[in-house]
Amino acid sequence: MGSSNRLAGKVALITGGSSGIGESTARLFVQQGAKVVIADIQDDLGLSVCNSIHTKDSISYVHCDVTKDTDVQKAVDFTITKHGKLDIFFSNAGISGNLDQSILALDHEDFHKVFDVNVYGAFLCAKHAAKVMIPAKRGSILFTASASAVSHGDVAHPYAASKHALVGLTKNLCVELGPYGIRVNCISPYGVATPMMRNAMANIAKEEAEELISEAGNLKGAKLEAEDVAEAAVFLGSDESKYVSGLNLLIDGGYTTTNPSFRGAMRKKFG
Ligand code: NAD
Repeated sequence: MGSSNRLAGKVALITGGSSGIGESTARLFVQQGAKVVIADIQDDLGLSVCNSIHTKDSISYVHCDVTKDTDVQKAVDFTITKHGKLDIFFSNAGISGNLDQSILALDHEDFHKVFDVNVYGAFLCAKHAAKVMIPAKRGSILFTASASAVSHGDVAHPYAASKHALVGLTKNLCVELGPYGIRVNCISPYGVATPMMRNAMANIAKEEAEELISEAGNLKGAKLEAEDVAEAAVFLGSDESKYVSGLNLLIDGGYTTTNPSFRGAMRKKFG
């Protein structure tokens, strides 16, 4: 881990901060000197994350369903009232939705639910972030997309489509908001054994999930953890990335670059 205080003086709002990648990011942001507000629908979990952090004035929780305009507005208002500004909005909340991968098994409701949280929710976060960042003439907006926004991800179609949509939103917003000094970037992780991922793996133990993910991964000798994604968020939220905007930063150990199926077929034939 790098030096501390990389986010000193920054104020961050993190959706989906009660669990998984968002929780790890909230913890790392606080360690790096930021004031953090977690916004989520899992209130008890979010409050317990806050209570587990010793510097209690550094972190707080607000209930926020990202699909509700008024909730997102309230989360931003809460942050501004408490800390006086908003430097980083990490729009990270997401759902996988119906895990069935056949197009024949999916209906409007499956598609709508996933898009409502993953895309419309992110759109609302960006909108309310922009309202306060434009007058401030600075800010960093981050989304969590996915490796499945780049290559086939063994996920259901609505999820894959929603994550591709986030990359498009990142690019469009980066152009609109650049003139106001606001950077917009996107983080795309490969598999992390969070509750969401483990739910898609029949809730197997965390270690077992990590093993499976590592086995399918390209980069050996390392396992992807929520903290690794949090490190990317620190970089993109901090002034270390002050001229980086419009980027989809893959945290995938090269997974989306590889396609070993030709090699597999050759080995099958020739050994
Ligand atoms: P997680 O389930 O641990 O965390 C997701 C959080 O989002 C939860 O706390 C949940 O309560 C919250 N959330 C869900 N719907 C919400 C809503 N309507 N309003 C506010 N909060 C809501 O899962 P995670 O893996 O940490 O997921 C975080 C992000 O990372 C998601 O966008 C996910 O798609 C993305 N992602 C995860 C992986 C992975 O392998 N875990 C890989 C790529 C991308």
